[in-house]
Amino acid sequence: MDNNEPMAGVLADFARSMTDLPPHAIVDMLLDRVVELLPVTSAAVTLNARSDPALARSVSATDAPARRLAELQNESGQGPAAMVIETGGAVHAPDLAEDQMFGEFGVAAAAEGVAAVFSFPLGHRSEWLGTIDLFRDTPGPLEPWATSAAKTLADVTSAYLVNARERETYREGDELFRTSSLHDALTGLPNRVLLLQRIEHAGQRSRRSNAQAAVLLVDLDGFRFVNDKYGHWAGDALLVAVAHRIRPLLRPGDTLSRMSGDQFVILCEDVGDADVVHRIAERVLGAFSEPFRVTSPVRAEPVQIPVTAAVGIAFTGSADSVGSQLIADADFAMYQAKRSRVGSQVVLDLRGAIRDADRAELQQDLRTAVQKNALTLAYQPIVCVADGTVTGVEALLRWRHPDRGPMPAPLAVALAEESSLIHDLGDWVLRRSIFDRAGWLLEAPERRLDLAVNISTRQLLSPGFPARLEETLRRAGADPGALTLEVSEGIFLEDSEYARSVLSRLKRIGVRLALDDFGTGTSSPGYLRDYPVDVVKIDTEIIAEIDEAPVGGAIISAVTELAHIRGISVTVEGVETARQREAIARMGCDSAQGYLYSRPMSAGDFADLLRESHADTLRLPLNTA
Ligand code: C2E
Ligand code: MG
Ligand code: MG
Repeated sequence: MDNNEPMAGVLADFARSMTDLPPHAIVDMLLDRVVELLPVTSAAVTLNARSDPALARSVSATDAPARRLAELQNESGQGPAAMVIETGGAVHAPDLAEDQMFGEFGVAAAAEGVAAVFSFPLGHRSEWLGTIDLFRDTPGPLEPWATSAAKTLADVTSAYLVNARERETYREGDELFRTSSLHDALTGLPNRVLLLQRIEHAGQRSRRSNAQAAVLLVDLDGFRFVNDKYGHWAGDALLVAVAHRIRPLLRPGDTLSRMSGDQFVILCEDVGDADVVHRIAERVLGAFSEPFRVTSPVRAEPVQIPVTAAVGIAFTGSADSVGSQLIADADFAMYQAKRSRVGSQVVLDLRGAIRDADRAELQQDLRTAVQKNALTLAYQPIVCVADGTVTGVEALLRWRHPDRGPMPAPLAVALAEESSLIHDLGDWVLRRSIFDRAGWLLEAPERRLDLAVNISTRQLLSPGFPARLEETLRRAGADPGALTLEVSEGIFLEDSEYARSVLSRLKRIGVRLALDDFGTGTSSPGYLRDYPVDVVKIDTEIIAEIDEAPVGGAIISAVTELAHIRGISVTVEGVETARQREAIARMGCDSAQGYLYSRPMSAGDFADLLRESHADTLRLPLNTA
């Protein structure tokens, strides 16, 4: 029986209507669809995201018996849904009459005429939202297709729930909201809203007093893995324990807040000397040297969970930094710390390392490099997952500093973005790569070779960008359809008329748009609906965890399904192993990029590769060392 077709229809329907619905309506729609589509008699959803008032405890069900059974599980802590909370994975009870393990719940289910229950977690990335129970009046296992359909529905619904919650958070502006929602319900710490207010005040004060403020972003490693291995209750308890351990390490006036998921942000005001902040960061990292003890709500014995973390730091400096920008900078520094890590704990202090005089000097050095044509591009092949042929390349900026050696690409881009330098640098990247591609194709003009170029939000929004791009394409005689501009979600968060008009102008020119780094940031599936995206690129971070944590796989398959409904192609970045390749092939992803196929290489090396491949198709030997 082919059940893909109704599934695709349901997902399409979700994509059309769900993005605008409030959470309870999304849950109702899920329940309707579940009983319509799957061989079950009734269903119930329990939301209990403790961290979040919008999704706080509530039970919805298709009928009264289902509601009673869901409520009973909440109260007694017995039953499959209670076990889902415990284990984090789906729990199947195909024959309750035979199963003695659910105690009171088994008896109550029999009384309601329920013979089998299948419970699935509702969660989105590292967030635990609740459970869905599927009830059946006859015993027997749930068919594999129905199991996989239930999982997909649960994943997609979770993504929409998180999305709806975020919308509500932005929408609510009344007094009640402000007083009741300045703190995170799980840890009791200030939340993002309050943190941003405090950063703003700190910024004003530091402008008056010349003392700077700093933001430290603390990100736990493998938090999703904790949820998967021990259950979501453990993830929640761990976050509370981390908050308790960090708080006493700070100075009295510092603010510790929980931003989202597994990220904490510390605001330190009046830091006369950057060393003070470095010492705080060291103390915070030191707090992770001992495992955390957490106790399950159901079982008595505590569990020891070892976790490590990375910290990124950003300083207000002398510029008028906006709070959200400061957090983004710290996030970026943290990300660099994770990437460049040798041991398990690294502090990378972007602003600190390149602050003030240093920073100005580096910016000048970058400007000189742009003027002297001393930057280069590396090209990384993009490969068709199904047959392994190279279909295109992504251009990646490379800057070798005369004294400091190779500089990370995101750092160069960040420096350039702080001034108008980004316009010259961005134009250079586009020109250089479009002409490099034209050169490669001189000998084989018919060959398919797409070019992907990263465009920063500021560059995209700079006046005249589309016109300059059109002119470059014309001069190189390049087909606009072969060029993909990779943008980050920043452009969608911008959500301005101007941004929309630039995107539609680019579509008219005929270039393709890719949403880069999907799976980091807010990564709303709504972007795939609301904007003219042709490709979604799933971030390296997601695939990296796929071997350990199945959640990464669930995200990739749900995004792929949604994307394909909208005719959007999916590229997975950072594919390093043959197992990862097999997994994404199974999930139907279109393209892949990563060290398994090739590291980024010089234009000359890529030209040699093309020349050596006599046939029209280029396949790379896999690096499966
Ligand atoms: P991105 O666009 O997501 O590029 C992919 C990054 O992943 C590249 O890092 C690439 O070297 C790295 N990568 C590729 N395969 C693997 C793998 O198998 N494993 C792992 N761990 N990493 C892999 P790179 O070159 O350091 O660039 C980092 C980011 O800097 C890019 O992320 C992009 O956002 C930005 N960037 C690079 N060049 C430019 C540019 O010309 N303009 C702009 N605006 N941004 C750029
Ligand atoms: Mg990219
Ligand atoms: Mg990317």
